[in-house]
Amino acid sequence: MVVEAPPCPQSGNGFANGSAKPKVYRDEAERRRYEHHEADVVIIGAGIAGCTLAVALGNQGRSVILLERSLKEPDRIVGELLQPGGVRALEQLGLRDCLEGIDAVRTYGYDVIYFGNGVKIPFPSDANDKILEGRCFHHGRFIMCLREAAAANPNVTIVETKAVSTIKSTHTGEVLGVQCQTDGKQDFYFGPLTVVADGYASTFRKEYLPIQPVAKSKFWGLELIDAKLPIPGHGHVVLGDFPPILIYQIGEHETRILIDIPDNLPSASVANGGVKGHMRNVVLPSLPECIRPSFEAALEKGGFRSMPNSFLRPVTNRIPGLMFLGDSLNMRHPLTGGGMTVAFNDVVLLRDLLSPEAVPDLSDTKLVLKQLSKFHWQRKSLISVINILAQALYSIFAAGGKLILSRRLLLGSGY
Ligand SMILES: Cc1cc2nc3c(=O)[nH]c(=O)nc-3n(C[C@H](O)[C@H](O)[C@H](O)COP(=O)(O)OP(=O)(O)OC[C@H]3O[C@@H](n4cnc5c(N)ncnc54)[C@H](O)[C@@H]3O)c2cc1C
Repeated sequence: MVVEAPPCPQSGNGFANGSAKPKVYRDEAERRRYEHHEADVVIIGAGIAGCTLAVALGNQGRSVILLERSLKEPDRIVGELLQPGGVRALEQLGLRDCLEGIDAVRTYGYDVIYFGNGVKIPFPSDANDKILEGRCFHHGRFIMCLREAAAANPNVTIVETKAVSTIKSTHTGEVLGVQCQTDGKQDFYFGPLTVVADGYASTFRKEYLPIQPVAKSKFWGLELIDAKLPIPGHGHVVLGDFPPILIYQIGEHETRILIDIPDNLPSASVANGGVKGHMRNVVLPSLPECIRPSFEAALEKGGFRSMPNSFLRPVTNRIPGLMFLGDSLNMRHPLTGGGMTVAFNDVVLLRDLLSPEAVPDLSDTKLVLKQLSKFHWQRKSLISVINILAQALYSIFAAGGKLILSRRLLLGSGY
């Protein structure tokens, strides 16, 4: 299924795969996207990274095909707290409006509760002494706004299809495009640059990247209804002699709680009642009293969901015609909520490195690879801080015990 941008005056509303009405195209590039499945860039995955890259490149006049296996609103426990550095990057991409109209909650910092004692840690201030703001929201609502922004871009066509493999030149090994399954039928999309942005469980990573993610714990998520938070407008991190717990309000009535459970945690063993046992016996008594009633209600309701907390070191893209972006390329523990900030800042950097001024023709694979090597090194200045902070804080907090909490260390976490 091809998703249309809102109809422009001169365009019809035909579908590439067989509408009765002949389609009137905006331009030749759109005709090539629909009829030949061909563009400058083919992106796999209309998630956090894929949508924003599609808009950024589309704004530069590149012809983009964005492939997504399901265009339904995602219902996930990830990507719900956007750091101020992510808000800023979104603004640089002209996409800040995507944070409006989704019942997002303004966030001004953290309340770190350490063995019952809270420390309020505001986000850093800007040059005018104004505290920078983050946002918390329902992930699915935010994604739908990003997809709408991509669909509204005249140079982007979104296709609902599942990418199954890359198409490679037998002579040069260069990636030429993507093979897909659309409604059970084989389908093909071609472009000089294919971007893999298919998320944490990437189908393509195994084939092309020399390293794979490591996950030693999971976050288990519950949704609390009308929870009372100690400091509204702040993320809460609950620490003690147990693995870390994160709490943040994602809508007017909904609050997310994420509970880290490492592999083989004794308090979550079958003998101790499993995950629910850990939640009841360890988490419940450790929470601030005001949160307990909503947590108990969520515990009774059940339907917990989990996600692996992965670490994946980034590597340089060396494959002609292909690049990885977002979680398929690089992951860190989500304790500090850094993944979306990384993805948006990566897109800002790529937009500049792959601009038509820097790379007039994306089929110049040598030049593209040179720019992608620059991308690998230039992203380090910001991204390494996020990656290292996330892994280091998790190692400290998951260790439990009486550690001295450094306020200065945490103050950097506004990115
Ligand atoms: C438990 C948990 C909580 C998190 N919380 C936060 C947080 O609060 N803040 C934060 O910044 N980060 C958070 N993260 C990280 C954040 O969610 C990711 O970094 C971010 O979503 C990565 O974006 P992405 O575009 O790479 O992947 P995704 O956003 O997952 O997008 C991938 C897209 O690709 C599509 N896709 C997959 N396979 C195919 C295929 N074969 N064909 C076509 N389409 C395909 C998927 O349907 C999806 O739409 C969290 C992570 C975890 C595990």
